[in-house]
Amino acid sequence: MQIKVPRGTYDILPPQSSKWHYLEKILRETAEVFGYREIRTPIFEHTELFERGVGESTDIVSKEMYTFADKSERSLTLRPEGTASCARALIEHSAYSGLLPVKWYYMGPMFRYDRPETGRYRQFHQFGVEAFGSLSPYMDAEVIILLVEILHRLGLKDYELHLNSVGCPKCRRAYREKLISHIKPVKDLLCPDCQGRYEKNPLRVLDCKNEACHAAIKGYPVLYDSLCDECREHYAEVRKALSDNQVSYIHDDNLVRGLDYYTNTAFEVHIPGIGAQSAVGGGGRYNGLVKACGGPDIGGVGFALGMERLLLALAEGEEEKAGIVDVFVAVMDRQYEDIGVKILTDLRRAGIKADKDYTGKSPKGQMKHADKLGVKMAILLGEDEVKNSFVTVRDMISKEQYQVGHRELIDFIKRHIKA
Ligand code: AMP
Repeated sequence: MQIKVPRGTYDILPPQSSKWHYLEKILRETAEVFGYREIRTPIFEHTELFERGVGESTDIVSKEMYTFADKSERSLTLRPEGTASCARALIEHSAYSGLLPVKWYYMGPMFRYDRPETGRYRQFHQFGVEAFGSLSPYMDAEVIILLVEILHRLGLKDYELHLNSVGCPKCRRAYREKLISHIKPVKDLLCPDCQGRYEKNPLRVLDCKNEACHAAIKGYPVLYDSLCDECREHYAEVRKALSDNQVSYIHDDNLVRGLDYYTNTAFEVHIPGIGAQSAVGGGGRYNGLVKACGGPDIGGVGFALGMERLLLALAEGEEEKAGIVDVFVAVMDRQYEDIGVKILTDLRRAGIKADKDYTGKSPKGQMKHADKLGVKMAILLGEDEVKNSFVTVRDMISKEQYQVGHRELIDFIKRHIKA
């Protein structure tokens, strides 16, 4: 029987991999312009990290983790998101005792056991940033401005940025009571999950994916009305900073984000055109996280973007158009193949993207091959060329041909590629 990729995973083959390179380049460049540097953490961690750092009542931890015991019976989990690992690394390397804020970005595969559909996979990729060690509302604004800048650089204009404040544990405590009293009379209409969790964590009901739950709790009290003065002021400052920097957003009372460690600012970006899974990214402030993971009491703010969903949103042709290589070495007579290989090596050592045929194609077949690779120039090597120590360079667009000596070849090609 043929073996196929596991459900919810997929291969990235060329030319699609070039789109990934393009996306990765924009993500890196933009993060670096904003002063973030890359962190790479392991793909699996101790299960406890996610239980503590993401929260046991969340869908991610309660239903979606790829957890396994290794040969020493340790419980390990393929990372479902990046923030908890960053917090762990921050603590483990005492990175918080250096220059603050610590500004990191990461990029890589994440794993969640969910029902696959367009835009939802079991292995998917996230790009994220985290800024630890600042409580300033301008820090929140910075990460949001960074996210919006990424979308602009990718040419994605039709997005919606939703923004809310989920307050601090103090104002949330008061709000919880109000929300529980609102939900209690209609609790029988909720999905089984929400019936089980509404008393412990009523905010999760607002975050439930089940439409019936939303219908049942219609008219519920909103968190914004319960914010304490400090949280209200923080939120107002974030909003002002966004407006001052021409970032438009929609205040969204329904946005609560399911993760336990979020405090204050929460945001989500949707691109309505990409289908049912329209959320391309989300994030917020998480002042309780580092402490919950065993570190000092310092705040953090960040976001994660779904890279597959960004690619779904990227219009055709947005990525850089380039041939696979720039130059093709065509050998007109097999006996000169060794010279062809030497020329090819010289070109490559000079940093020129070049290739040749390795399947014994005829001269005509080699030129077709060159066309398919999208080269700008072909170098033709036949009897005349070898006897007289030159090569014929053909411009594949203008079809003009030049006779070029071996010594001048690299310079000639470099000049021609630039022109
Ligand atoms: P979250 O950590 O759940 O806020 O996810 C952040 C972003 O990652 C989402 O907005 C999606 O773009 C992306 N994402 C989350 N889960 C998946 C998945 N199963 N497949 C593809 N992308 C995902």
